[in-house]
Amino acid sequence: MSDPFFQPVSGFDLPRFAGIPTFMRLPHVPPGHARFGEVQIGLVGVPWDSGTTNRPGPRHGPRQLRDASTMIRAEHPVSGTRPFEAMNCADLGDVAPNPADIPDTMARITAFVERMSDAGIRPLIAGGDHLASLPVLRALATDGPLGMVHFDSHTDLFHSYFGGAMYTHGTPFRRAVEEGLLDPRRMVQIGIRGTVYDREDRDFARAEGIRIITIEEFFSRPLPDVMAEAREIVGERPAYLSYDIDFVDPAFAPGTGTPEVGGPNSFQALQVLRELAGMNIAGADLVEVSPPFDPTGATAFLGASLMFEMLCLMTEGR
Ligand code: MN
Ligand code: MN
Repeated sequence: MSDPFFQPVSGFDLPRFAGIPTFMRLPHVPPGHARFGEVQIGLVGVPWDSGTTNRPGPRHGPRQLRDASTMIRAEHPVSGTRPFEAMNCADLGDVAPNPADIPDTMARITAFVERMSDAGIRPLIAGGDHLASLPVLRALATDGPLGMVHFDSHTDLFHSYFGGAMYTHGTPFRRAVEEGLLDPRRMVQIGIRGTVYDREDRDFARAEGIRIITIEEFFSRPLPDVMAEAREIVGERPAYLSYDIDFVDPAFAPGTGTPEVGGPNSFQALQVLRELAGMNIAGADLVEVSPPFDPTGATAFLGASLMFEMLCLMTEGR
């Protein structure tokens, strides 16, 4: 049976609005903790938004997501999955960022995730802006490039910003392909929309064989059909799952820095993940929740709910 140490605090033992918030009320097991090596899935905050090109704030995301995640209960409503009984899950705390130094912070994130990998722990990351995915991929793609299912309004495949800035939240997956961390032919980007500066990102995607499913295509096909194609593209081998909250329509997720109208609702936001059952997930992230633009807390609650969906996928997949 499951280890009681790794169970969330029950809302019947301590009401969910009480106590110190950790992700989903799990035990706090930072690196160095006596039971760190027993963790199988580590929930980690990356409170960092130095890659943001417009409205900042995701550095405050992990704390807000922890608070919102106290609403999460133990069992998935549809599949019946009970992730905390299937695997040892824990809140590993935050990667300590250096808000004044992008390369230093990226090195810290990579080192943190490497330490997890060495202990056999798969990461579920709470951002932070989307640049955080790049140093995570540097730690995970040690046995060759990974596939990726990527939900976003934006491709994040641009070459550079502001006349040569190579590391922003608009460039992480361009760098990841260049660095051989992602296999472009096993990449799918879903929900792409909004005005753009130019088509340079899409030209790169086409040249490399990255599959882009625009929001127009997404809504013109049955959702299970789109997601079956996504599973087919990433295949059986390990793949990364990256979820930018701005995939969701800003009516449901206003708390983000670069919203784009005309997106999926909160039910569809959950459904796309449920259709990924069986995916071989090497690691996952939920990024771009920006509490300063989230006055009702709805975005953080959706984000925490999406993290629970991802956690269920990660415990079911193996
Ligand atoms: Mn993004
Ligand atoms: Mn985005």
